[in-house]
Amino acid sequence: MNHEKSKKLLVAGEWVPAADGGVSQTYDPATGELIASFAEAGPADVDDAVAAARQAFDDPEWRALSPDARGRLLWRIAELIERDAADLAELETRDQGQPISMSSGVNVVLSAQVFRYYAGWCTKIEGKLSSVSVPDTLHYTRREPVGVCAIITPWNFPLAIAAWKLAPALACGNTVVLKPAEQTPLSTLWLARLCVEAGVPAGVVNCLTGGPLVGQALVAHPGVDKVSFTGSTEVGKQIVAGASANLKRVGLELGGKAPSIVARDADIDAAVAGNLQGALFNTGQACGAYTRFFVDHKRVDEFTEKIADAAAQLKIGPGIRPDTVLGPLVSAEQLNRVAHYVDTGVRQGAQIVTGGRRATGPELDRGHFFEPTVFAGVRDDMVIARDEIFGPVLSIFSYEDEDEVVARANDTDYGLAAVVWTQDTATAHSLAGRIRAGTVFVNLLPLIDPGAPWGGFGLSGWGREMGSFAIDEFTETKGVFLNLAR
Ligand code: NAD
Repeated sequence: MNHEKSKKLLVAGEWVPAADGGVSQTYDPATGELIASFAEAGPADVDDAVAAARQAFDDPEWRALSPDARGRLLWRIAELIERDAADLAELETRDQGQPISMSSGVNVVLSAQVFRYYAGWCTKIEGKLSSVSVPDTLHYTRREPVGVCAIITPWNFPLAIAAWKLAPALACGNTVVLKPAEQTPLSTLWLARLCVEAGVPAGVVNCLTGGPLVGQALVAHPGVDKVSFTGSTEVGKQIVAGASANLKRVGLELGGKAPSIVARDADIDAAVAGNLQGALFNTGQACGAYTRFFVDHKRVDEFTEKIADAAAQLKIGPGIRPDTVLGPLVSAEQLNRVAHYVDTGVRQGAQIVTGGRRATGPELDRGHFFEPTVFAGVRDDMVIARDEIFGPVLSIFSYEDEDEVVARANDTDYGLAAVVWTQDTATAHSLAGRIRAGTVFVNLLPLIDPGAPWGGFGLSGWGREMGSFAIDEFTETKGVFLNLAR
């Protein structure tokens, strides 16, 4: 392998190969073709990146930068993302597989939006005057950056998730080591390059590519103050254990198994269209994807028939084709995992209404494509009803009344998202209040907005991202007590 041609690591403002010469590859999930080689960081690179981030954190060039100047930097990054939008979208589609309509229309747009949103926050991070009872004293609070933050991201929305962590981290004055998923490092490397171009001082943003070992080394590193992680619940637990030595701050956005409740009065056609998109966007590789469909028993047959018909007609293909709705799964490993879950569903007695197999055809055979799959006759205790599958697979259940459906929807280890389909405002508010999930949508697709908190109950994680919540996550509160006695 020619190391010169591999993508490099960003450490202290310089693009460098891995200290031990490590190199990995990333492949196009639609064709299996090699797209690029990238440096596989090792322990020495982790030490260097953390040291660079620490030095930059203490350097007045960053530390003393005015909130206004920091805001301008973030705004500039948003402009650069927009300048490169077409290239970034294509890169994301080639590396991750998602349809170009989604990478360009949703992910790149959201990434720029989130930088602009947090550019505005830089000048609005404020402390409070505290109401203390000690005589002749003054107490006030300051919001201060946490320090060196490791940002570890998954492969499903590489650019957007990196952006929605990096923007608030920088807005609060932290320094960062970014660690994208090994399957999809390219758009994060591009984002790191845009940060340099925007004028972010050397060492404020570092980027290390590589796999779980790089993540583990960052999590264990005594020089890291906070880990902001999005990924699987299993790895989230390892991160909590690994971060305990120096009690790092830990933010976790983990898995989901969102229920979708279709009430008797729902507009079924709207519910079918919305649920199908909610279940299958990014080929079901989304933490907020709708997966468990509880449909009123009087509407369940109609719903099942319509959603299965609609699913069977979706255009499957390489994400780079503009008319593709369903792209490939990210890797052969993920394809096997999904196929295994489908087999388990069948073995446990669920019925496939449509799909259920690897998708084949001249344009599909080399990639990791799977048919959109609808299961009926699913019991709440089956594996496919409980585990996060992270593929184009949905299960339909029928229910009789509200108390029953609330109990069943909440009978999950996760609690990230949920959706309710009803035309009745009272039903919408009642269910929104009773379902245990970080976000409840009503008659909507799963959406992410920079102003709205995102995060989950239970095994879906700790903390909330976006909005003012991310400002809280990336700051420490300091109290200042002054003696005013004369
Ligand atoms: P993953 O947990 O396997 O990997 C995520 C990241 O962690 C990668 O960068 C990986 O290299 C790194 N990593 C792996 N093992 C590690 C370890 N022991 N210590 C430190 N870092 C380690 O997740 P994935 O398969 O890339 O992504 C899919 C998962 O992400 C799904 O479970 C999905 O629900 C979740 N996700 C959650 C959200 C959310 O907002 N809640 C959003 C997107 C994805």
